[in-house]
Amino acid sequence: MSTIRISRTHFPVTALGPGPRFGVWMQGCPLACAGCMSLDTWDADAGTELAVADLLDRWVDALARGAEGITVSGGEPLAQPGPLRAFLAAVDRTRSGLRPAPDILLYTGYELTELDSAQRAAAALADVLVTGRFLAGQPTRLVWRGSANQRMVLQTDLGRRRYAASVDLTPERAPLQVESDQAGVWIVGTPRRGTLSRLERGLRHRGLDPDAVTWRPE
Ligand code: SF4
Repeated sequence: MSTIRISRTHFPVTALGPGPRFGVWMQGCPLACAGCMSLDTWDADAGTELAVADLLDRWVDALARGAEGITVSGGEPLAQPGPLRAFLAAVDRTRSGLRPAPDILLYTGYELTELDSAQRAAAALADVLVTGRFLAGQPTRLVWRGSANQRMVLQTDLGRRRYAASVDLTPERAPLQVESDQAGVWIVGTPRRGTLSRLERGLRHRGLDPDAVTWRPE
């Protein structure tokens, strides 16, 4: 069984896709968008390497605890197209017969036209893709997207059923989760412009160390 390199997993994720979700952040990103808030996921040799089967066990556990979908982000998931394809194919098998079926949402910094055949094969297993670099100069209010250039691509009937109303949705507030672990404080979601600096001020106000957040360079 192949291995896959991840930054972390989390359940429940409530700020990247509909319903309570299992979140996977993959390790390694060659795209280096200015203003990226996932700097800790850039190094392709960092993070944790684990068997695809072990990652699948985490998903199955989340499914038993009520996950309504899976969100794969990063890092750049399509920098590991083979392991990602194996993982998503295995996820797909676990949802056979489940009603309602959990959906697969995949984030990539690539445009569809940039993908090679291995990347296209992995991306094809997602119900919904969010594509494109994060461009700090193009802020957006669109739900689950970090910048206005990013496109939500509905690839399956399930994706169309669950996400059609979200393609142009601009909620009053961007959904956001703040989590903490041994590595420090990290964010789930696509914060709007100014949110991270407000959050850092809030942490400082509460006597917490904003240098320990994951979105700032070491
Ligand atoms: S693609 Fe995503 S993880 Fe990679 S640099 Fe851009 S925003 Fe960061």
